[in-house]
Amino acid sequence: MGYGRGRQLRGRLFPRLLGRMILLMLMFCCGFVLYYIASDQALPFEGRAEVPYSKDRGEDGGRSNSDREKESEEEKGAWQLILVNKWNPMPEDYQVELTKLSNGQSVDSRIYPSLQKMFDDARSQGVYPTVASGYRTARKQKALLDEKIAEHEAEGCTEAEARRKAKKWVAVPGTSEHQLGLGVDINADGVHSKGEEVYDWLDRNGYRYGFIRRYPQEKTEITGIINEPWHYRYVGVEVAKEIYRQGVCLEEYLGEVRQ
Ligand SMILES: [Zn+2]
Repeated sequence: MGYGRGRQLRGRLFPRLLGRMILLMLMFCCGFVLYYIASDQALPFEGRAEVPYSKDRGEDGGRSNSDREKESEEEKGAWQLILVNKWNPMPEDYQVELTKLSNGQSVDSRIYPSLQKMFDDARSQGVYPTVASGYRTARKQKALLDEKIAEHEAEGCTEAEARRKAKKWVAVPGTSEHQLGLGVDINADGVHSKGEEVYDWLDRNGYRYGFIRRYPQEKTEITGIINEPWHYRYVGVEVAKEIYRQGVCLEEYLGEVRQ
């Protein structure tokens, strides 16, 4: 009987215990869910105070992503890859914002930081370059050409021949990268370094700063300009590295080789 009663008791106790346990578990679960919801709701509250910031940040994030894409597209297509040579004159309305260097020369403001960094690094390695010629106006370019023509005429050339020869050295106004402010003639300072040292350093390192040797010896047919180890052109680091790696000139890189 006792046995029977105990069994009966246990029979009543177990479902009750089970029920309590389930209830406890439910309460625990509800508590957890409520806590979770409450803490989840706390985020917008926290966020609300920061809305201008987080919203701006969000929008900025979105903007800067697309901006970055646009910028890199622009980098690939626009100002730093503009091709100017004797077959591709620069646009007549080309505008350039200049930064003046300490020696009086100027360059496109956008290339100035890279140029400065390149010079700083060269100097820290014991090589002392200087910008012999940066930005030129059309007038300056014409004066240089006229000067060169006069030199050849003085050597006894006819005017036509003098002009033809001069054009190999000096670009006709409108066809010089110097008028873009993106081309720079870099020479040795003449005190601490010799020309060859500077040209050699630039040849090995210029691309790291976004500058390419624009008129190499082996590309004169394509560029239309004689070997100029001093003339460097800014194209941006990415493109400069690629041009250096492929051993091509700008015309080849852009697929603009005149047939
Ligand atoms: Zn030059």
